[in-house]
Amino acid sequence: AKDEKKTRDEGGNYDIGLQDAGDGVVTRFPPEPSGYLHIGHAKAALLNDYFAHTKYKGTLILRFDDTNPLKEKQEFQDSIIEDLALMGIKADMKTHTSDYFQELYEHCIQMIKEGNAYADDTLKEDMAKEREKFQPSKRRDASVEENLGHFEEMKAGTEEGVRWSIRAKIDYASTNGAMRDPVIYRCKPEPHHRTGTTWKIYPTYDFCCPIVDSIEGVTHALRTTEYNDRDAQYQWFLKTLKLRHVYNWNFARMNFIRTLLSKRKLTKLVEMGKVWDWSDPRMPTVRGIRRRGMTIPALQEFILKQGPSKNIVNLDWSTFWATNKKYIDPVAARYTAVVIAHKCPVTIIGARAAPYTEDKDKHAKNKDVGTKKVVYSANVIVDQEDAQSFEQDEEITLMNWGNAIVRKISYSLSPLDVVKSAVGSAPKVVSALELELHLQGDVKKTKKKVTWLSTDQDLVPVELVDFDYLVTKDKLEPEDQLEDFLTRETEFRTSALADCNVAELKEDDIIQFDRKGFFRVDKPFLHGQPAVLFQIPTSAKARPD
Ligand code: ATP
Ligand code: MG
Ligand code: MG
Repeated sequence: AKDEKKTRDEGGNYDIGLQDAGDGVVTRFPPEPSGYLHIGHAKAALLNDYFAHTKYKGTLILRFDDTNPLKEKQEFQDSIIEDLALMGIKADMKTHTSDYFQELYEHCIQMIKEGNAYADDTLKEDMAKEREKFQPSKRRDASVEENLGHFEEMKAGTEEGVRWSIRAKIDYASTNGAMRDPVIYRCKPEPHHRTGTTWKIYPTYDFCCPIVDSIEGVTHALRTTEYNDRDAQYQWFLKTLKLRHVYNWNFARMNFIRTLLSKRKLTKLVEMGKVWDWSDPRMPTVRGIRRRGMTIPALQEFILKQGPSKNIVNLDWSTFWATNKKYIDPVAARYTAVVIAHKCPVTIIGARAAPYTEDKDKHAKNKDVGTKKVVYSANVIVDQEDAQSFEQDEEITLMNWGNAIVRKISYSLSPLDVVKSAVGSAPKVVSALELELHLQGDVKKTKKKVTWLSTDQDLVPVELVDFDYLVTKDKLEPEDQLEDFLTRETEFRTSALADCNVAELKEDDIIQFDRKGFFRVDKPFLHGQPAVLFQIPTSAKARPD
C-alpha cells in the first residue's frame, strides 16, 4: 500500500509512464470490427488515449484490425467510432490494417525470399501436434522458388492454394510457443468488407501488428499481458524485416465476476435473444453499461485507477458502481415514487382543505439542481411497506412536509392472506391510514422518514426496471458450456406512480427516487405510456433486494 501511494497523483490516479517516452509518443487502439466495444476494450482505448493526449502530447491512432473477412462488419466499425466519442476519445488518425495489405504482402515475399518464411500444407491438427512436440514441419526446408509458387497459388485463391499457409521460420524448438514458426498468412477466398475480392490471402494478427505499427510510426504498442510471450516474436519480425523499433508495453486484461468479455460469447447472447441487443443494460458493452446508468467520468476514473497493474483479477462490480455513485449522488435530482401494488391510501388530518403547491429543492445539498413542485393535500398514498411498519400514535416524518402522528390503522386481508392467516403467517395489509399533522414536531427525532404522494396531482406512471447478472458463475472456465450458466430471469419490472415533475424527465436523465435509489430514464413519459427507468446499481449486488 505504501508503494501504491507513491505512484498515485493528487487525483488518486496512478502516475503511469512509458519507457523512453515524451511528447511525440504515438499509440494505437486496434479493435477488430467484429462486435461492439466492451468494458475491456474501453480500458485499452482509455489507456492509449491517456498516453497520447493526457500524459504526453502525442498521437493516437484508431486502427481497425480488419484482417478476418468473415467476422467483420461496417455496423461494428461505425459503432466503435461512436462509442469512443462517447468516452471522449478522439483519434488523430483512423486507419485500417487492410490499408496495408499490399505492403504486408510485399513483406511476406521479402520474408520468403530471404529464407525467413515457408509455405506449409500440414493439416491444422498435425501442425498443433508438431509444435507441441517441438518438431519441424516437413516443408520447413523447401526452396524459395517452391515457397513463392505456393504463395502465388494462395494469392489466386485456387483449390490448391487454400490448402497452404505461410509460416515464419523462427525456431520450432523454442521454449516459447510463440516462436515456433507462427502462421503469418492464410488463404481465405472470401470477400472482405473493404477490399472486396481483391485479396484471397489474409495476414495474421501476429504478422500485421509489428509491421503496421512500425509503418505508422507507433512508438509504444500497448497490449494485454497475454501477449507477453508474443513480444519476442513481435520484436523478431521488426528485426528480421529491418523495421523501425517499437516498444511493447503490457497491461492487465480486465475481467469482472459473472461477466462475459468475449465478443464471440456476447454475440451468442444477442443471437440467443438472452438480451435485447448489444446496447442492452445487462451487456458489459460501453453502450450497455451507459444505458444502465454509468457516467463516463466514472468509467474513466475507474479504469485509470487500475493503472499499470499487471495482475489479472476478476473485478467485482461494486467498486465500479461505487465510483459512479460519487459522480451522480451530488447532482441527481430527487423525486418520489410509490409502488402501485398494495399502495396505501392515507387521510391527512389537519391538512388545508384545498390542495396547494410549494417549490422545493430537487437536491437538499445542491441548490443548482433546481426546484420541483410538491403538492400538498389531505389525500396521499404511501408504500405498503411503510404503512405496515407504523404503530398506533407513533410520530413519523413525511419527507418534504413535516411530522405526523399515526391516528388510525385499518387492515384488510387479501384472498391469499386469508389462506395464509389460517396457518398463522398472514402479513396484515394496511388498507387505510389516518395521519394527523404535527408540524411543530422535530423531524430529527423521528425514526421513520416516509415518502408520500398527494393524489391531487397528475401522478406519472413509471416502470422501474432492475436487472440481474446474465451468468450464474463468478468465473466461467473454458470447459464450461455457456448455456449451463445462464441466469433464468434477469429482468424485473415494478409499476409505480411518481410525482408530477417526473413527466418532464428526458431520456438519459439520472435521478434518485427518495429511498428507492438511483435510476436512469430510458424512456420518458409520453402519450400516457409509463416512463421507463432503469435502476442504477450502487453496490456489489447487481440487484438490490
Ligand atoms: P474479444 O475477446 O472481446 O474479441 P479481442 O482482444 O479479441 O477481445 P479486439 O477488438 O482485438 O478484441 O481488442 C482491441 C483491443 O482491446 C486489444 O488491444 C485488446 O488487447 C484489448 N482488450 C480486449 N479485451 C480486453 C480486456 N478484457 N481488458 C483489457 N483490454 C482488452
Ligand atoms: Mg484481438
Ligand atoms: Mg477475441
